[in-house]
Amino acid sequence: MRLFAPIPLRLILNYMPESESPPGSQSPLESPSAEQLRRGFPWLKFSEPLEKDFREAYRAQSRVAVQLNLWLCLSLVIMFALIARTILPEGPDRLATLFSVGIFVPIVLLSLLGAYSPLYWRWHSSMVQVLAPAFGVTLVLLALMSRGLETTFLPCLVLAIICIHFLAGLTFFPAVRSGLIVLIAYVFGSAFSEIQLDRAAFGSLVLLASNIIGATVCYRLEKVNRTNFLEARLLKEMASRDGLTGIYNRRILDEHVDTVWQQAMRERAPIALLLVDIDYFKAYNDYFGHQAGDEALRHVAQSLALSARRPLDFTARYGGEEFAVVLYYASREYVDEVARRIQQNMEALALKHPVSPIAKHLTVSIGAACIVPAPDRSPFGFVQLADEALYEAKGQGRNRCVIMDKEYEQMSTGSFRKSHDSGLRQGNVRRA
Ligand code: GH3
Ligand code: MG
Ligand code: MG
Repeated sequence: MRLFAPIPLRLILNYMPESESPPGSQSPLESPSAEQLRRGFPWLKFSEPLEKDFREAYRAQSRVAVQLNLWLCLSLVIMFALIARTILPEGPDRLATLFSVGIFVPIVLLSLLGAYSPLYWRWHSSMVQVLAPAFGVTLVLLALMSRGLETTFLPCLVLAIICIHFLAGLTFFPAVRSGLIVLIAYVFGSAFSEIQLDRAAFGSLVLLASNIIGATVCYRLEKVNRTNFLEARLLKEMASRDGLTGIYNRRILDEHVDTVWQQAMRERAPIALLLVDIDYFKAYNDYFGHQAGDEALRHVAQSLALSARRPLDFTARYGGEEFAVVLYYASREYVDEVARRIQQNMEALALKHPVSPIAKHLTVSIGAACIVPAPDRSPFGFVQLADEALYEAKGQGRNRCVIMDKEYEQMSTGSFRKSHDSGLRQGNVRRA
């Protein structure tokens, strides 16, 4: 029984904001998966880096399937051998079947070995693209050389085409290419062999039909596979985004701070956290209404995402009218530069705020913590330090940035330092 109806794709796509940045840029407001679903992929190819991710996921996902398929092949081949031995009368037919079984078994065993070895990740894709058609062409050659036994080999060739399309773990285009190579080998081989014309025509038609069926089903399967991949990514992206602004949400921010903290501790790298709070936003809401407030939050979020655009820079909504920017390998100068850019972009946005006591447009206060993580410090304290800096910026009149870097040595409030020291020293202040 199905407990939950699947979420209609159109609904998911409506939720995702359309890309507003130039193609290729990676603002967190964009969703490459949503974009790809909107555009479609009739040629079974995504734009990079989605295509690369899909291929990796496909290889990982198809490994177990390939292993199971190979065991299935082995069982069928053994069954073939037993049937041939017990049912077929002694003679060339039986010999031919046993001969092809003798070729199948080592190939399947070798493939099994490859599918279980670590070499799978490096070699499977290219190896199977060579082995699959080679295996089919070998069978074709056997069929054409076995005078008068072409019909005995025909079912084996059909099975080979089925294996190529559905069991080898090939994607659509390599599978179609491999199937066509087998068909062309049969057609050309027949022309140069002693096989009768009507038999050759019949055999070619059977192989053509097998290829068409294989290609049609293979295309549909890959289409479904790719759609599932994009939808799964989209759902994951949705769970990591803030519903109003489209940037990352608090859950992802917390995870990101933890990850960055661990990594920076290993690499002894400086990291920074900027807490950005809109000034007098309650008054803005009271004056323009809540909906206009929501619109302003979207603009501010987008502007922040554009202010910190190095590959490892990260922007999220911290909650309410507060945002967070996490910078990796961030020198004091870089933190200063990003804070300045944020305030310049806010000025450029020029969202009118007629009731603000400090400016004509919407402004933000920024509190930044800039440190190198160490075992006696904690991510929790890192956030708290940025919070202290923000408090300081508000206290000094708003629309400014306070950066605290060396202050952690003196911090005693909360749990920034695991062992509590003396009182808080004043931060470095820069007016916007
Ligand atoms: P300060 O300069 O001290 O930061 O003053 P402030 O008015 O910005 O701060 P305060 O904490 O008093 O008010 C925050 C306001 O942010 C109150 C709340 O209505 C508004 N807010 C929080 N989340 C949202 C939201 O999702 N949408 C809208 N429109 N407003 C929000
Ligand atoms: Mg606030
Ligand atoms: Mg505020």
